[in-house]
Amino acid sequence: MDVADDLLALIGNTPMVRLDRTARNVDCHLLAKLELYNPGFSSKDRPALAMITAAEADGRLQPGGTIVEPTSGNTGVGLAIVAARRGYSCIFVCPDKVAPDKIAQLRAYGAEVIVCPTSVSPDHPDSYYSVSARLARELPKAWKPDQYHNPDNPRSQYDTTGPEIWRQTAGRITHFVCGVGTGGTISGIGRYLKEQDPTIQVIGADPVGSVYSGGSGRPYLVEGIGEDFWPTTYDPSVVDQVVAISDAVSFSTARRVTREEGLLIGGSGGTAIAAALRIAQGLPADAVVVVHIPDSGRGYLSKLYDDGWMSDHGFLRASGTTVGDLVRERDPDLPSLVHSHPDETVRTAIEILREYGVSQMPVVKHEPPVVLAEVVGSVDERDLLGAAVADSGVLDQPVGSVMGPPLPTVGIGEPLAAAAARLQSAPAALVLDGGHPVAVVSRADLLGAIARAGAPHS
Ligand code: PMP
Repeated sequence: MDVADDLLALIGNTPMVRLDRTARNVDCHLLAKLELYNPGFSSKDRPALAMITAAEADGRLQPGGTIVEPTSGNTGVGLAIVAARRGYSCIFVCPDKVAPDKIAQLRAYGAEVIVCPTSVSPDHPDSYYSVSARLARELPKAWKPDQYHNPDNPRSQYDTTGPEIWRQTAGRITHFVCGVGTGGTISGIGRYLKEQDPTIQVIGADPVGSVYSGGSGRPYLVEGIGEDFWPTTYDPSVVDQVVAISDAVSFSTARRVTREEGLLIGGSGGTAIAAALRIAQGLPADAVVVVHIPDSGRGYLSKLYDDGWMSDHGFLRASGTTVGDLVRERDPDLPSLVHSHPDETVRTAIEILREYGVSQMPVVKHEPPVVLAEVVGSVDERDLLGAAVADSGVLDQPVGSVMGPPLPTVGIGEPLAAAAARLQSAPAALVLDGGHPVAVVSRADLLGAIARAGAPHS
């Protein structure tokens, strides 16, 4: 019978497909390595199997042990599948930007999942790196695969995916494009391919703001790729170039490929295809660009494939007058996002409100551009006034100790009615463009816009 002995035997040997519609405006071949065909629906089944097998072999992982790992989901699924077959427990620690469906999936395999804030630094005790390190230290028979520093992670891709791509393209591959998270995939596959043919170009696809493309590693919305530190599983010597892609382009590319090719891919697959299309511009007809698709879009149906979520985050534009028109019409001298920081004094915050003539502003952790996870609260002139009148000592206190909760958000492409709905319960709303807060709109702004739009000949 043509039947695998167990599910683990079905890891790897994934198919490749030509993306002819996606590549219709370029001359070269564009081929996708479909890692969503693995039993756990992602490329991370391969390192999960390799890391566990190696740890069993040298005794780091003992019978009945517990696997503890910080993971955005896919590595967790791979580990959970191998653990289920081989009798281990799993505890996964995830950042809070991970899609709820992915967390539910891990729990479905019987794993315990702990969710930690994205907005804290990696060395903070509540960060997902710190929490997993503590659990791995304190639990008996715990083993941490440590995918960011485990050489079996890139080795699994070197041993399996690299040879598959070389064989499937009959050695004709000229460019390999791949998202970079731990860097295990690009480093392992890239090294194998360059050993076969040193002229093959290896290109990383990275979210704007992540360290690989020169950023500081601040949060972005695409999941599974980009970092705020340099993992040892990333080997920069095999990567010729890193292309930075915005969340907006990653998401719109993933949605377009899904509709045009009938291939439901995740957000980071969108990042990789967007980078591949940039690289493909100007390449000759015999160039063979292989793009790595790490996972399926099934885990992101409530995010990038949900029009409501995309609109709220400022990725989609409605017809008619939008929140963006309102923002653009306003005083052109206003800096894009009037803001305060949690460690600034209340006195400074009041000066900022007065200088720009605004009544409320968000409190953000870094200088803009920021993402929503970096918005920690808001201040309102009425609240500050009340606090300062009751106790003038408040003026020298940090904003963080008196601020209110973050303002509700509205997408820049949403109709004015959406802003009106948000402003029922709050005096102002934070406007998001491509996932980034860019402005605040108040009830007064909205009333002004409605009055102007309603006036004849205006
Ligand atoms: N995309 C997704 C969705 C992932 O989960 C991962 C793994 N973190 C990657 C891309 C990148 O793979 P790697 O960690 O090997 O760089």
